[in-house]
Amino acid sequence: MKYDVIIIGAGPGGIFSAYELSLKKPELKIAVFEAGNPLDKRKCPIDGKKVKTCICCKTCSIMSGFGGAGAFSDGKYNITNSFGGTLYEHIGKKTALELMKYVDDINMQFGGEGTKLYSTAGTKFKKICIENKLNLLDASVRHLGTDINYIVLQNMYNKLEKQVDFFFNLPVSEIEITQDGYKIITQKAEYECTNCIVSVGRSGSKWMEKVCKSLNIATKSNRVDIGVRVELPAVVFSHLTDELYESKIVYRTEKFEDNVRTFCMNPNGIVVNENTNGIVTVNGHSYEDNDMKTENTNFALLVSKHFSEPFEDSNGYGESIARLSNMLGGGVIVQRFGDLVRGRRSNSKRIEEGLVTPTLQATPGDLSLVLPKRILDGIIEMIYALDKIAPGTANDDTLLYGVEVKFYNMEVELDEKLETKYQGLYIIGDGSGITHSLSHASAGGVFVAREIAEKY
Ligand SMILES: Cc1cc2nc3c(=O)[nH]c(=O)nc-3n(C[C@H](O)[C@H](O)[C@H](O)COP(=O)(O)OP(=O)(O)OC[C@H]3O[C@@H](n4cnc5c(N)ncnc54)[C@H](O)[C@@H]3O)c2cc1C
Repeated sequence: MKYDVIIIGAGPGGIFSAYELSLKKPELKIAVFEAGNPLDKRKCPIDGKKVKTCICCKTCSIMSGFGGAGAFSDGKYNITNSFGGTLYEHIGKKTALELMKYVDDINMQFGGEGTKLYSTAGTKFKKICIENKLNLLDASVRHLGTDINYIVLQNMYNKLEKQVDFFFNLPVSEIEITQDGYKIITQKAEYECTNCIVSVGRSGSKWMEKVCKSLNIATKSNRVDIGVRVELPAVVFSHLTDELYESKIVYRTEKFEDNVRTFCMNPNGIVVNENTNGIVTVNGHSYEDNDMKTENTNFALLVSKHFSEPFEDSNGYGESIARLSNMLGGGVIVQRFGDLVRGRRSNSKRIEEGLVTPTLQATPGDLSLVLPKRILDGIIEMIYALDKIAPGTANDDTLLYGVEVKFYNMEVELDEKLETKYQGLYIIGDGSGITHSLSHASAGGVFVAREIAEKY
């Protein structure tokens, strides 16, 4: 079975590659291989009643399947080069931004029309943040919301399935180089192609590492982000979230001069579990639908750890910390901020009596037994700094869930076309280590599709 293009992974990177290719070159034979389920079969078994915590399914429905890790995400498309990846280092800032805007247009055509585009341009909060030693990063944010994001994906699939062969529940196990392209090996069969786009995201990070080793493609890895997810009454942040929706704020700690930043803000949202390679960490999202909104807002506070020689396994470091919380709490741990600063564990009673009703069932515990002191001190400092622009952030009842870990795939050596040293083998999205967001991953997909289309 021979294809012009095989795409591995049906996350945003893979979907936008398939979309752009089928638009620009409808005559091409294209296949997509996906380890997980089609969108309508993706269902996390955690229902809060019978199944309360992660049971480590064979493929995680939150991370895998059509839509990738983004399918049940908040659908926040950040149109910016300031965060979300370093795609611009390869393709240039102007092109990267244009492609992110193009992705936004496509999302609007496929069901996102009417959703709000927020922007930091001209906001008064920039000054207020600076006055309080906080730096608000520039961005435009399209908030689709989990529900509209799902509709957009469904509509895209309905269009794509007419032109593209989809193989679900079929992880690719190996990529081999042939005389005129690539052989894609799965448990069921082998397929050949002239061009191969690999977009396997975070869940495919270990496999990606293996492929790079076997094909002798250079990689580097030295970063992991570790922190907590903060949950508080939505009113505490409503002045910021009403205007900006998501504010990316960076604080430089006084003690260690580390950068702590807010990440993935979800006004009126919920906190969720995330399973990466069997390790349960925390994340969050929110819905556009008013009926699904909660009274809480959540966001992550993360500290980036960059390691220098001889240590190379930054993800292993993050995993070990997440494992500690899994060991102590059987999954994610939750603690009141007041308990943390008083040096005592939280218990169910104190949480129940508190002002904030948790949106995730997590085990009350003590995050100071899990997070390294340097990281924890930075987070506490930042909470007090945020309290100055959003009074109430440092309330005793503010909930902290841990741990949140952002694993970065090792960065793959790619040229300015996102091509490896092998002609026709492209690596994009979070799996390449150069993107960490929906918009950057999607923009990379469009970029390589256009590169390939030009060859024909
Ligand atoms: C809960 C959650 C919320 C998020 N919220 C946001 C947000 O609001 N905004 C934002 O910008 N980002 C968000 N993100 C991050 C965002 O989802 C990712 O950056 C984005 O999905 C990356 O796209 P991708 O195509 O590179 O990879 P992915 O979306 O991870 O897709 C990769 C796909 O490849 C498949 N795969 C892996 N290995 C193989 C293999 N060997 N063979 C075949 N298939 C394979 C996987 O099953 C997966 O479906 C969130 C992530 C999570 C988990």
